[in-house]
Amino acid sequence: MNKVVRYFKSLLLWELIQGLRLTGKYLFAKKITVQYPDEKTPLSPRFRGLHALRRYPNGEERCIACKLCEAVCPALAITIEAGPREGDGTRRTTRYEIDLFKCIFCGFCEESCPVDSIVETDIFEYHFERRGEQIMDKQKLLAIGDKYEDRIARNRQLDAKYR
Ligand code: SF4
Ligand code: SF4
Repeated sequence: MNKVVRYFKSLLLWELIQGLRLTGKYLFAKKITVQYPDEKTPLSPRFRGLHALRRYPNGEERCIACKLCEAVCPALAITIEAGPREGDGTRRTTRYEIDLFKCIFCGFCEESCPVDSIVETDIFEYHFERRGEQIMDKQKLLAIGDKYEDRIARNRQLDAKYR
């Protein structure tokens, strides 16, 4: 019986009609296509984009070179070297690098950081033009943190509500 039904359905182009019915349903429906980059969708405060290193309000860098982020990174994208800082002898990173070609944007680094130093911002519109630019060193990461601190702080405050 099933075979007969299938035969008649194929004869009547039943599947084609079903497909056209679905197309017709969406032909006059409200369009949901977003005209990026002129239009943008809202982003979650938890969005995991470009990384940044943050400072305290007095300008002191937050990172204490504990290397937790380096240890937890599943992609081995973070490289840290540390040593005592000249002057006060506090432990600081002498090298902090993230290879964005290795990074899978999992967010483990920011979750593991005990001082909210390394964070992932909601910035996703960036590109590289030369080989090696994907290596984000300490200066670049601190500069991003300085530039977008207000945005980062606001997102972290919003995010805290859901934790
Ligand atoms: S987001 Fe994940 S993969 Fe990328 S640097 Fe952080 S821990 Fe590593
Ligand atoms: S960014 Fe955070 S987790 Fe990584 S070394 Fe610095 S203090 Fe530790």
